[in-house]
Amino acid sequence: MKLVLIGIQGAGKSTQGNFLSEEYNIPYLSSGHIFREMAKEKTQMGRWLKETINSGALVPDDKTLEIILTYLEKPEYANGYILDGFPRTVVQAEAFNGGVDKVVFLDVSDKEALWRIAGRVSDRADETVHAIRKRIDSFHEYTKPVVEYYRQQDKLVAVDGEQNIDDVFKDIKKELDKIR
Ligand code: AMP
Repeated sequence: MKLVLIGIQGAGKSTQGNFLSEEYNIPYLSSGHIFREMAKEKTQMGRWLKETINSGALVPDDKTLEIILTYLEKPEYANGYILDGFPRTVVQAEAFNGGVDKVVFLDVSDKEALWRIAGRVSDRADETVHAIRKRIDSFHEYTKPVVEYYRQQDKLVAVDGEQNIDDVFKDIKKELDKIR
């Protein structure tokens, strides 16, 4: 199963992604994690990625596609994956045609997301108020259209992400079990 998780920062994508990974025995991966690891490299590319990520901006589509599509060629992803954070723009979604069976949209309001992010301990440089605001804005500008893109393709499973963790998981599972 090729699954994509979409949701605003703080929506619970990594929590639910890890639950789903265990439940279905499918590897979980996050584009943000891949980029953060690459940003540690002491190369020009590493420094540029670090600056881009820390500002809260998106990595440009061409670079993102090059990096993530190459990463997904690893044999461990041949039978499926649970992808968190990619695709995040319609350009990425179009280029990733064929890579997605279902898309889970964890629907959480900006207000709730901000509460959750403010309440968690983080050492991430992109979790300053300014960078978080920018990431939320970019979610509305670039990623909401991706939700509509997959809705039109009949691939979208929209879940109320403001419920407690167990209920969100139950809702996702109920929908996914229909197609398995
Ligand atoms: P995340 O942990 O998913 O919030 O990602 C952290 C940061 O990595 C984002 O704010 C972007 O700078 C970058 N990033 C992750 N995934 C993507 C993507 N699909 N397209 C562009 N930038 C991305």
